[in-house]
Amino acid sequence: MSMWFMNEDREAVLQTTREFVEKEVAPRALEIDASDEFPTDLLKRAGELGLLAITVPEADGGLGMDQTTHALVLEEIAKTSPVLTVAMGAHTLLAGGLLQMLGTPEQKETYLKPAAMGEIILACGSTEAVGGDDQAEFTTRAVREGDEWVLNGGKVLISNIGAADVYIIIAVTADKPDPVTKTGLSAFIVPAGTPGLGIGQPEHKLGWHGSATGSISFSQCRVPAANLLGPQDGALQAMFISATAEFLSCGPVSLGIAEGAYEMARAYSMERIQMGQTQFDRFQVTRHKLVKMYTAIESLRGLVYSTYAQRDAGELELARGRLLKVEGARVSEEVARDAIQIMGGVGVIRETGVERFWRDAKVMAIGGASAEALTEAVSQMMRRAMI
Ligand SMILES: Cc1cc2nc3c(=O)[nH]c(=O)nc-3n(C[C@H](O)[C@H](O)[C@H](O)COP(=O)(O)OP(=O)(O)OC[C@H]3O[C@@H](n4cnc5c(N)ncnc54)[C@H](O)[C@@H]3O)c2cc1C
Repeated sequence: MSMWFMNEDREAVLQTTREFVEKEVAPRALEIDASDEFPTDLLKRAGELGLLAITVPEADGGLGMDQTTHALVLEEIAKTSPVLTVAMGAHTLLAGGLLQMLGTPEQKETYLKPAAMGEIILACGSTEAVGGDDQAEFTTRAVREGDEWVLNGGKVLISNIGAADVYIIIAVTADKPDPVTKTGLSAFIVPAGTPGLGIGQPEHKLGWHGSATGSISFSQCRVPAANLLGPQDGALQAMFISATAEFLSCGPVSLGIAEGAYEMARAYSMERIQMGQTQFDRFQVTRHKLVKMYTAIESLRGLVYSTYAQRDAGELELARGRLLKVEGARVSEEVARDAIQIMGGVGVIRETGVERFWRDAKVMAIGGASAEALTEAVSQMMRRAMI
């Protein structure tokens, strides 16, 4: 059945993605979860296939395609390996988004182009131990000294650490960031290996195994003045837009997680024989659970692709983008939880792969921004009659 949002170009990219997933990702998905090792080779391979360059303009070495195409790629990969889409998101949407919006032609040539082709891996460091989602409380500072910026401080819970060749870092450049407008924050390009840049060990997380999330530190870390990315003190607007792109992307990723879990449970229930009948035929409760899961998935699909259609029509989708992450995390967690229940004892065995979807869905409600913080942000938009 062809969906209303499909066309020839999108179908072609989806076909490439399907082949990549089937031949190269699927055989590795469980091993990445078990080993918790960052899949550098798969991310680079995605780059070779153009899957990291979908929305990057052609002038910057990308494919210049639309956001819906990008969503289709993420959904397809997340059905098999949600964590690969997480690594892709930090690379293309958070760090890559800032480079695309704020970069000079030279910065784009040096960093965005190779990143789009998967030749280098990016990470984006914003979150700090203090401050939560209020960037005005950030303490990582950058001070201009002659032809250099000197960074001191630290970031926590940063994806792609260790694997990244280049870190895009948010630091305070004013005496104190404005608590309302948050002016006073700037973005910097910090290549791996820069003296004074410390890379921690990846944390052991509930889900998203392999995304290498951890702390980084800056101790008299000097970068050339040319590594300031965008206007001094004025990174916030671009941060807001790149974060929105990342929240949006949680919609198709969650959809993929839910579909992956549902498909496993559906197939299992039709194969498992109990008292001479398949589980599907024997238990109404199983059948009805599957219908409920199917309905939740199709509702989420509608929300995801109608929001992306609006995004492609030029709307920023600040509110619905945030809601895609909130609703996506909720639906994927519920569907994955029900899938485990349908599969019974087999469902809790790691090697089956279905409980991994539930763990990854749970992290979706926190990583990048908590569902509560996003809901609160949307309620403030409601107060200002933006929605
Ligand atoms: C796996 C993973 C990967 C990550 N990758 C990156 C990355 O690449 N780059 C990066 O910069 N950051 C990254 N982060 C950090 C992420 O953005 C933060 O964890 C997230 O914003 C939540 O912040 P926090 O952990 O400080 O929680 P806190 O802000 O301390 O919040 C704790 C809890 O308080 C409640 N809460 C918080 N704020 C509100 C609010 N406004 N309204 C109502 N309730 C609220 C929620 O229940 C929330 O879960 C990652 C996090 C994880 C878990």
